[in-house]
Amino acid sequence: MTNAPLSIVQPDPAGLAVAADMLRAGQLVAFPTETVYGLGADARDDTAVAGIYAAKGRPSFNPLIVHLANLAMAETLCDFNDDAHRLAGAFWPGALTLVLPLRPDARISKLVTAGLDTLAIRVPDHPVAQALLAAFGGPVAAPSANPSGRVSPTTATHVADGLGRKINGLVDGGPCGVGLESTIISCVDTPTLLRAGGIPAEAIEACLGRPLATSADPETPVAPGQLASHYAPKGTMRLNAQTAGPDEVMLGFGPVDALLNLSPSGDLTEAAARLFDCLHQLDAINATHIAVSPIPNHGLGVAINDRLQRAATPRD
Ligand code: AMP
Ligand code: MG
Repeated sequence: MTNAPLSIVQPDPAGLAVAADMLRAGQLVAFPTETVYGLGADARDDTAVAGIYAAKGRPSFNPLIVHLANLAMAETLCDFNDDAHRLAGAFWPGALTLVLPLRPDARISKLVTAGLDTLAIRVPDHPVAQALLAAFGGPVAAPSANPSGRVSPTTATHVADGLGRKINGLVDGGPCGVGLESTIISCVDTPTLLRAGGIPAEAIEACLGRPLATSADPETPVAPGQLASHYAPKGTMRLNAQTAGPDEVMLGFGPVDALLNLSPSGDLTEAAARLFDCLHQLDAINATHIAVSPIPNHGLGVAINDRLQRAATPRD
């Protein structure tokens, strides 16, 4: 989140170089894709990705789609099986998002994957998106560039009206295509349709030579957006705790005595950036009982509390 004036740049080499530099500096840059305008941040930068949630006012941490210039770059982030290679070969660049196993050396922010070990990726077809991704040369996390709950933006004016004071840059590429979201296919196991979108399921089935599973199938009981709610530390969590009990590990916020602290200075952006990392660290030390400091319920605190509450809900 920022209060700096919005830099609107043209999609020419000079403007794209400025936008790529802004991404490198951890800033938020909106750009056109063939679906809608995306709100981009360097997917390796925890603080920049936290900024996406702050700017959009998203009340929950759903995993984000990472945009890449080409297949070679995608292969450095995810493991591709034969199905994934076939689909990428047929539909990239284009409105197809693949969910694939995340490579351990990918260095993607855990806030992008919401702590999952899978990653949603796509190579967009829009020439301006292509040129920006090539100029930047790295992975760009980008949900739609609109305030949470508002209509998806298909012009630069929509973006400026909705997010103008909350983002740093905007590449004005004119109106973008159809405004349909990308089709999301998981190729982690059996190819599964997670979200219908710009590329019809029939075209994907024709390419694979077999029907897609759907997330309503009993074997794959995961709907888009819900997968994230399944990531929670193994230990039980007690929220709004002032101090840890004798058998508890403290996950702190603010100036408290804690083994792990989301943000000793009480900064919600830092806490959001560190959240999934801290949850993984609690598993790594086999924490069985976790006490969590109160988190203020405004700004990014809303999404942090949403995630903590899900993690604290008893599971079987
Ligand atoms: P949006 O950011 O609005 O384009 O939405 C991204 C969609 O991709 C959401 O429905 C997410 O739940 C879904 N998604 C992103 N990453 C994953 C993942 N690793 N597994 C399953 N779904 C995902
Ligand atoms: Mg959206």
